[in-house]
Amino acid sequence: MDKRGAAWLSPTLVMADPVHVSGGVVAALTTRPGPAKNGAVRHICGISGGKDSSALAVYMRDRVPEMEYFFCDTGAELPETYEYLTRLEVILGRPILRLNSERDFDHYFKVFRGTLPSPQMRWCTRNLKIKPIEDWIGDDPTVSYVAIRADESNRKGHISTKGNLQTRFPFMEDGIKHADVLRILSDAGIGLPDYYEWRTRSGCYFCFFQRKAEWIGLADRHPELFEQAVAIEQKVLLDAGAGDDADFASQAMKGRQYTWSGGETLVELRARRSEILERQEVAQARSKAARVNLTLLDALSDALDEEDASMQCTVCAL
Ligand code: SF4
Repeated sequence: MDKRGAAWLSPTLVMADPVHVSGGVVAALTTRPGPAKNGAVRHICGISGGKDSSALAVYMRDRVPEMEYFFCDTGAELPETYEYLTRLEVILGRPILRLNSERDFDHYFKVFRGTLPSPQMRWCTRNLKIKPIEDWIGDDPTVSYVAIRADESNRKGHISTKGNLQTRFPFMEDGIKHADVLRILSDAGIGLPDYYEWRTRSGCYFCFFQRKAEWIGLADRHPELFEQAVAIEQKVLLDAGAGDDADFASQAMKGRQYTWSGGETLVELRARRSEILERQEVAQARSKAARVNLTLLDALSDALDEEDASMQCTVCAL
């Protein structure tokens, strides 16, 4: 970790220099007014409930005292996430503002005519996460601090076209990597959110980015949430005619996503519980054998990546 913390004591706003990051937290901004008055520059730090953004919040705590911390609450986050945010607020000594969409998942589920959100149709992120941020910032000149790490250069891309927003990447600027993030959280006495025991990403309990072993983790740890995800999926399937159309699989399935996890329903996935967990254990053992000083989280990440290399949500899972 590079010790250049003093550089953050008086952050300077450079409005004319757009920053590029892939799928970033803040995209195009709307014109709704935010809470800042008299042109004061706002400093904001979004917390997803994941380790990187949480570590960034801790890292910035004494560097930018006027920081506004926020969390976009879809109403479908994991119980562990809500619990972790409460503990994080104590560490920060500051509240973490909960930004809620004016409309919930059920509303947009109807608007999008019962289509599940998917990597191709991510209406959830846009409406439940990005829009509330846009509304909250409005036209205020704002510096947004984003937790892309120095060892994540592959996450670069475009983030914002609006002139009132500057994005900064303290971890990239200060050379902070994965191990540093774990140390920041450990030193702060908060450690990792409990969901990292079975899942490597924050976000909604039904997130389509989660891997099959993580769905099993959800079924084991939060059976009621798993059943809710099953119910949403069953509704989509029945609405599409899966109940009485023999040709459904060959016709209606074409080009649309009817299940949360690729290639099978959640009920079918759960029936393969033993097989999925066995495969995960083998992959974890292989990962441990190949790397020394491997943390449990690293081993779980490696095993899940081996099982299913789907992209994570770069807005929801930092
Ligand atoms: S966590 Fe997943 S389901 Fe939730 S808003 Fe993000 S991409 Fe969508």
